Amino acid sequence: MQNLWKENLRKIEPYVPGEQSTEKDIVKINANENPYPPSPRVIEAINKFNCDSLRFYPNANATKLKKALADYYGVEADNVFVGNGSDDVLAICFQAFFNSNKPIAYPDITYSFYPVWCRLFGIDYKTYPLGDDFRINPNDYKEENGGVVIPNPNAPTSLGEGLDFVEKIMQENQDCVVIIDEAYVDFGGESSVCLTKKYPNLAVVGTFSKSRSLAGLRLGFAIASKELIAILEAVKNSYNSYTVDSLAIEAGTAAVEDDEYFRLTCKKVIETRERITASLRELGFEVLDSKTNFIMATHSDYSMKKMFEFLKSRKIYIRYFNLPRIDNYVRISIGTDDEMNRFLIGVKEFLLSENNK
Ligand code: PMP
Repeated sequence: MQNLWKENLRKIEPYVPGEQSTEKDIVKINANENPYPPSPRVIEAINKFNCDSLRFYPNANATKLKKALADYYGVEADNVFVGNGSDDVLAICFQAFFNSNKPIAYPDITYSFYPVWCRLFGIDYKTYPLGDDFRINPNDYKEENGGVVIPNPNAPTSLGEGLDFVEKIMQENQDCVVIIDEAYVDFGGESSVCLTKKYPNLAVVGTFSKSRSLAGLRLGFAIASKELIAILEAVKNSYNSYTVDSLAIEAGTAAVEDDEYFRLTCKKVIETRERITASLRELGFEVLDSKTNFIMATHSDYSMKKMFEFLKSRKIYIRYFNLPRIDNYVRISIGTDDEMNRFLIGVKEFLLSENNK
């Protein structure tokens, strides 16, 4: 038996998401989820949802959700694209916009899904190392590119750049599409949505998974010129007309409409982040100035891999990346104040146990 059919199977290395656990009484601060529940208006929309309507296909254009997002961002509904999480939206953007024979450009270190999509879709890419301060140097992107994708704030560094930075990238990249991935922008970053009116080749991608506490619902969006949105629609409608389901349209719309709750929960996350940053610094950690719902921390006297394992044994889940330059860092998502207090106790126990060795 030669099993020749196996030769035609796709060999690909997938993206590895943060561990998910159903264990009880854990502190799960490893996947940048929001520690607060979705808006009460989302819960109400789900409770009121007419389950009989599930017999029908959803509105393929998700008109209601697009209208809510358009009103929120001060654009027209045809400047909005929605998808099944921002991973879905980004994957469609890669297919729709990155068809040049020149490589696309993005930073190294960054969101580790980008190379996975490049490999899946056969897109050539080059990466530019971050500076010693882990910042992106906009001058790196002056070369001719087949496209650019940058998360702002960047992940997992947590550092955010201002509009002047994005303007610089746009000035230097007028012949390709630039994607700014704003998954974490609502926690103190500066959004580039306003620049989409000035630059028809700029697409800003956002998500409901972080600041709107809806990671499980799978909703993401892009804001861009009508021309770019039309291309995204055409690509999406070439493989699946119904990425966003009826329930997600209702719940997502309710989430966007509850601005007060959104602001309140973002503020709470930011306050907790600042408190934990200060506490870790007092313990001798170096913590990057986060503009996200997570922090990147290191300690010159201790192994962060060991700390990650120590905390895990105490049911406190953070994230460790065994990657060049960040292999002595940990990424800690911001939980509730109680969860973060438990985390701090765990960290102090770890430092003590190491000191006693
Ligand atoms: N972009 C970045 C930078 C992220 O960290 C994530 C979360 N893993 C995403 C996009 C995708 O998030 P989602 O698909 O849940 O919207």
